[in-house]
Amino acid sequence: MRYLIISDIHGNLPAFDTVLAHVDLDCIDQVWCLGDVVGYGPCPNECIDRLRELPDYLCVAGNHDWAAIERIDMVEFNPSAQTACRWTNGRLTSENKAYLENLPTQIIQGHCTLVHGSPREPIWEYIIYPSTAQLNFQFFSTQLCFVGHTHAPAIFREETSTHKFEISIPVPNEPIRIDDERLIINPGSVGQPRDGDPDAAYMILDQEEKILNYQRVSYDIELTQRLMMEKGLPESLISRLAFGW
Ligand code: ZN
Repeated sequence: MRYLIISDIHGNLPAFDTVLAHVDLDCIDQVWCLGDVVGYGPCPNECIDRLRELPDYLCVAGNHDWAAIERIDMVEFNPSAQTACRWTNGRLTSENKAYLENLPTQIIQGHCTLVHGSPREPIWEYIIYPSTAQLNFQFFSTQLCFVGHTHAPAIFREETSTHKFEISIPVPNEPIRIDDERLIINPGSVGQPRDGDPDAAYMILDQEEKILNYQRVSYDIELTQRLMMEKGLPESLISRLAFGW
């Protein structure tokens, strides 16, 4: 089985479409989306529709998905994120609001756990540092756990000889061998990367080959920015896309 793993699309349809076109979907058995389909970006309904059109996929809820439907408070958002969240709320169709409302916070699929933030706190917790990852390894029982939320690709593991928890940053086009070790893996963000690289990020897990492929693909950022401008979304959210932040 081969899985396409994506996260944090954030209403950025040009980025999402570019990723879907970049992947040979005929070779993908299932798409795993780690939440935050909406928020920030100009095309929330279109991104949900595109996801739901996929032949086979799983999706968990992100903090922006639930803030946009007022299921959780957006008090922790900065003012620009709050503005975009309110705008998204006003745009979402009632069908898509119901769709977001019913997303689960965690999915276990074979030897993988899927969450948005962390297995300990799926909606809000950020796994940025190995110390946070270390605390989270006891909160899932599968071999692998895929997380999003930080918008930064990363792999966390326990180094077997030293028992220290470490982070490694994957390199595009350098396949990662997955044997029996337990890992927390973040594929990065499709629609708003925050690691200094503006290109959309995704991963493909090949279960039989035990290989994880990490990819970046450039998309038409100016098109997304134009759509955001037309919709009156905050300038800071528009400009950050060009810097990958
Ligand atoms: Zn996000």
